[in-house]
Parts: sequence; C-alpha cells; structure tokens
Amino acid sequence: MKTIVIGTNHAGTTAVRTLRRLDPNMEITTYDSNDNISFLGCGIALWVKGEVKDPKGLFYASPEILKAENINVKMKHKWVGINANKKTISVENIDTGEVFEDGYDKLIVATGTWPITPPIPGIDLDGVQICKNYHHAQKIKKANEDKKIKKVAVIGAGYIGVELVDAFVHSGKEVTLVDFADRIMPLYYDSEFTSLVEAEMKKNKVNIKLNQKVLEFKGKDGKLTHVITDGGEIATDYVVFSVGVKPQTELLNGICDLDQRGAIKTNLFAQSSNKDIYAIGDCSSVYDASTKTSHQIALATTAVRTGIVAALNIVKGNTLKSPGFAGANGIEVFGWKLASVGTSEASAKLHDIDYECIMFTDSDRPEFMSTYKDVFIKIVWDKKTRRIIGAQVGGQNNHTEVMYMFALAIQKQLTIDELPLVDIFFLPHFNKPYNFITLPGLEVLGLNYFKK
Ligand SMILES: Cc1cc2nc3c(=O)[nH]c(=O)nc-3n(C[C@H](O)[C@H](O)[C@H](O)COP(=O)(O)OP(=O)(O)OC[C@H]3O[C@@H](n4cnc5c(N)ncnc54)[C@H](O)[C@@H]3O)c2cc1C
Repeated sequence: MKTIVIGTNHAGTTAVRTLRRLDPNMEITTYDSNDNISFLGCGIALWVKGEVKDPKGLFYASPEILKAENINVKMKHKWVGINANKKTISVENIDTGEVFEDGYDKLIVATGTWPITPPIPGIDLDGVQICKNYHHAQKIKKANEDKKIKKVAVIGAGYIGVELVDAFVHSGKEVTLVDFADRIMPLYYDSEFTSLVEAEMKKNKVNIKLNQKVLEFKGKDGKLTHVITDGGEIATDYVVFSVGVKPQTELLNGICDLDQRGAIKTNLFAQSSNKDIYAIGDCSSVYDASTKTSHQIALATTAVRTGIVAALNIVKGNTLKSPGFAGANGIEVFGWKLASVGTSEASAKLHDIDYECIMFTDSDRPEFMSTYKDVFIKIVWDKKTRRIIGAQVGGQNNHTEVMYMFALAIQKQLTIDELPLVDIFFLPHFNKPYNFITLPGLEVLGLNYFKK
C-alpha cells in the first residue's frame, strides 16, 4: 500500500505522521514545493512584536523528523499534474526542473491556500507584502525593524491583519487599517466584541478606514508611496495585504468535485468524490456542525484534525466519521482576549438562519474577591431546534477556553435549555457560583435569579 501526500504543512504533516503510527509498513511519500514544513503562521505577529525571540520555535516538525519516521519527504518538489485513471501524479523537482511520475494507491491532497491578490494596479510594487509563510514572515520582520519605514498600512481586517496591526503599533509604527467591511473581523465576531477592539485601536492612534476599497497602490521608482482607496489617499511606506485566501486545487478541476470557492468537497471520512483521493486542511471543504453545511474552515486546528481523519480512514477503511467542525478560534489583540465558535449573529443573518441569541455581561469572579473584570458572552441558537449554533466570549482576563466547551456543545448538538445544566465547577478564584455561562442559559429560561 502506497500513500502520497501532497503538501507537508499542518494538514500534510499530521497525515503522514498518523499514517506511519497506524501502519509501520505503509510506503509514504510526501511532496512540498516549499523548503520548510510546519511553520506556525500565528507566530508571525508575535515575532514582529518581539514576544517570540527566535523564529525556530515556530516550527514543530522538520523534513529530518519525518525522514527519521521512515517517511519519504521531498521538499522543493511541486505537484504539476495528475492522471486519476492511472493513479499517478507528475512532480517537478524545483531545483533541477526535472518532471517525473509517481504512482499511488491513495492520494491525500493537502495543498492549502494562497493569499488572494486581485489585479489592483501597483500590487506588484516593492513594499506591498502578502503574509502566509516563513519567507513572508522574514520580510515583514525586516520591514518592521527598518527605521526608515514609519508608516504601515494593513489591508484586510481579518484576524491576520488585526494581529499585525497590534504588532506594528507595539513596534511604534504609524498604522492604518483598511477594509471594505464596516467593522473588523466581521466573519468571527459580532459588533459587541469588535467594537471593544476598535475602541482600543483608536486609543492607540490606529487610523481605521472601514467601508473603503483599495483602488490602487502608487509608487515612485518602483517603490510604494501611497495606497489609494475610494475614500482618499494614504501615504505609506509599507503595506501588508491580507484580504483572504484561495484553495490551491486547480489541478483537480474535473477530477474531484470542488465547491464554488474551489475547495475540494469531502465526506465525513475526508474523502473526495474520487474514492482514492482524500483532501485535508485549508484546501478542503468540511462539514460544519453548526450550520450543517459544508465549506472551507481555514484554520490550523481543522487542518490537523482532518489530517487525522484521512489517515485513520485510509488505514482502517472509512470507519471513523468526523463529528464535524465549528471553526473555534481565538485572538488576543490590544489587551482583549476573544474567542468564538460556530455561527455569529451577523453570519446567522447572512445565511438566513432562523436564530435567537443572548448577549450577557457579568463580573468574571465574585465581587467579594480583590479583583474581578467584566466578561462578555454571546450565545446563538437555532430558534426551532434550540440547538446551540455559536458562541463568542471576550474579556481583559482570559476566558477564551470556555469556547472548547461550546465547540463540543455544537458538535454534540446541545440545546440552549440544557446549557444551565452543564456541570460547571465553582471556585471563587476562577468564577462565580452562577457563572457567565450558566446565567445566560437560565435567563433564556426566565430563571435568572439575579436579574432586577
Ligand atoms: C499569519 C497567519 C496566522 C494564522 N494564525 C492561525 C491561528 O492562530 N490559528 C489557526 O488555527 N490557524 C491560523 N492560521 C491558519 C493556518 O495557518 C492554516 O489554516 C494552516 O496553515 C492550513 O494548513 P494546511 O496544511 O491545510 O495548508 P497550508 O499551510 O497552506 O500548507 C499547504 C502546503 O502545501 C504546499 N503546496 C501547495 N501547492 C503545492 C503543489 N502544487 N505542490 C507541492 N506542494 C504544494 C505548500 O507549499 C504548503 O506547504 C494562520 C495563518 C496565517 C497566514
């Protein structure tokens, strides 16, 4: 039995290591066009900020580690073609230009995504940078250390952009944030949460330009000088452009079913419409237990878990179904610690989901303790079934880990009525006897004993 895994980052690395542990005899080959594996993108902003001193710590595996596990790792090898009938792929050795064929019994596609770069005039100017891998991280770090670069613009107010804004502000740059949405991180958080961060950004003199579309990057002698939006002109020395990602799946057109965004459709075994091709990580479309639809959830956590699912089901013959995903995510910026999972109120509206929700604020610990802070929580549920479909939490103290429980609640279909019955411990050091999870559940049932 031979399995080829294309792409050896978070999804691919997990898949090959899981395959090896489940089947010591399997022939496993993995190809990646990059020259490194397992780089944690979340560390880019932390490295820029100075929190991470040595970027080597942002890698948790290497080609050498995989080779020691008897995995045939081919770096700087690009997948360039496939013959699904013959079960072969074509691969180009980037250093030599040689193209060769390799055959598989099972193929796992883990080619991830690449940042979207629309054909905006000037996007190729020196000083406009995308942010995806270690090579980009090195350039961004260098630009941050360059004293001549004073004004930085971040285009895209998703979590990657917002983390970089935080890092650049910390480094003393003058920062502008541009997005055509009307608030930051609109996909993950509702306005009750994003407004907390936006207010703090403003206090830190971030020039926030929402509802604005970038029309052009202007430069002098090939070097960026201005960002032109439909709202005006922004003088800038450096831009990080981060407006979204696209699955790298062009070679599978006509071979596997792809969704509208180009992500490879998979079943609960991570198998594509071609039974010998599995797809994992950012390049795949997965079952969302919150909305009961399938779509791409571009997170390292989903990548790792789909890698486990595919490897297990290749070795054990489609026996372990994924419980689905819910897109659990967290962020810490400008002193706010936020996490969310599943459907926000904004996305429930966008997708015409018949929902109800509660927004709840309380002290995180009893007021008799010497310190306590506000904690904000929002819970969204399906109006008809009362199934919890999303939750968001925020505070200046860290309560993000409660989202693990909400992820499980969504995967296991807990209802809002069952929420107050979840066996949550109480200790004044950490929380209140009727805490910020139990109380909103009780309030929905009309049983909040503390509401005046
Ligand atoms: C700045 C940043 C911060 C992030 N922060 C977080 C976070 O805090 N938490 C979180 O969960 N997620 C985070 N993510 C998202 C996370 O990094 C991705 O979800 C994850 O990398 C997906 O892993 P993957 O293996 O599916 O795809 P990728 O990481 O995209 O890897 C795909 C691999 O396939 C290779 N490849 C592609 N095409 C070919 C080809 N034709 N031939 C050979 N090889 C090919 C690529 O070289 C690459 O190594 C962040 C991402 C970025 C960019």
